[in-house]
Amino acid sequence: MKPSEFFDDFSQLLLKWRNPLPGRDLPWAFEPNPYKVWISEIMLQQTQATTVIPYYLSFIEKFPDITSLTEASIDEVLNLWTGLGYYSRARNLHRAAQQIADQHNGQFPTNFEEILALPGVGLSTAGAICALAFGHKAPILDGNAKRVYARSFCVDDEKDSQRTRRLWKIADACTPAEDCQKYTQNIMDLGATVCTPRNPKCEVCPVGSLCCAKSTNLIEKFPARKQRVIRKTKAVTLVVALDQCNRLLLERRPPAGIWGGLWSFPEYSDHIDNVQKWFWQNYTMKISIIQTWDPFHHDFTHFRLNITPLLVQIADSESHRFLEVDIDLVSLDKPL
Ligand code: SF4
Repeated sequence: MKPSEFFDDFSQLLLKWRNPLPGRDLPWAFEPNPYKVWISEIMLQQTQATTVIPYYLSFIEKFPDITSLTEASIDEVLNLWTGLGYYSRARNLHRAAQQIADQHNGQFPTNFEEILALPGVGLSTAGAICALAFGHKAPILDGNAKRVYARSFCVDDEKDSQRTRRLWKIADACTPAEDCQKYTQNIMDLGATVCTPRNPKCEVCPVGSLCCAKSTNLIEKFPARKQRVIRKTKAVTLVVALDQCNRLLLERRPPAGIWGGLWSFPEYSDHIDNVQKWFWQNYTMKISIIQTWDPFHHDFTHFRLNITPLLVQIADSESHRFLEVDIDLVSLDKPL
């Protein structure tokens, strides 16, 4: 069999598939308009569908279209993103909405290159929007598709970059020109419900008859492990500063970096002996240290952040400088 016939057979088998497994009633699949597909695809980057669903529903209720998102403040957008993590996605959505308003007259672009030019949209997300919203032929390579292709075609190149290049070629060869929307939805569903990371259900897999990993009994080997990155560690002190009325001092973080644009406790990274001087230099308020709480850590993709909370009291005379806000309107991170 020629390789091209093999790819054709793979896509035909996948196109014929009706997923018999429950649990894929995804709200964004009911009405695939480009705006909703875009929001869901951005939320699904690095986040599981079950986690995304309630966030997606709240987001669409508050911002049902591009116009409403364009008119929203970044704080309103971040507020709805609170707890979903990877906040640069929310900032990029907000910027992209402005770009659509300015450059495309408020209409979602239909062309692959124009979609790819939106902030926060990579190759796979642009492909998913083109395929799901417009039915254009465009391959995707999200985590689910990557796993299905890697196993079906035994892709085991040692270097991450080579492996990714090969997987893109396979994705392109398998993606049909016709019925691209259905094919794309099916490969996402297959990876999410059948060809799962652990215990794949090969006995009900529509492409099982062609699967290289299954026929060679090497499923565990695919997808190949990523080259190991040694995770760095950073340490910070978060200063929990109370005034005499037990109000907390929060400040907005810079737009880039972790928790970018969110409100948080002042972050201090020097020796604790110097914290009062640092606080005075930065906030011109005198503080006294009450207590150091037990440290804890928060893992990000590339590093571990060790956090030590430090409870301090702001001097009585400084209380008038606090601006009181409704805590529900402030965008804070919270654990998922
Ligand atoms: S046969 Fe098994 S390993 Fe191969 S694609 Fe299907 S579920 Fe994945």
